[in-house]
Amino acid sequence: MYVAGEKPDVGTYMCVMCYLELIIESDNEELPECPDCKAGIYKKVD
Ligand SMILES: [Zn+2]
Repeated sequence: MYVAGEKPDVGTYMCVMCYLELIIESDNEELPECPDCKAGIYKKVD
């Protein structure tokens, strides 16, 4: 699991609450709060 504020690896992350997918394109990019449901917990999608 990954939380908002972390800087995870480049890849696609899915919000565990609403299944919105976010793409992280840079190692310096932080995971934001989910823009849809305001949760901040993600799973990585391969
Ligand atoms: Zn969400």
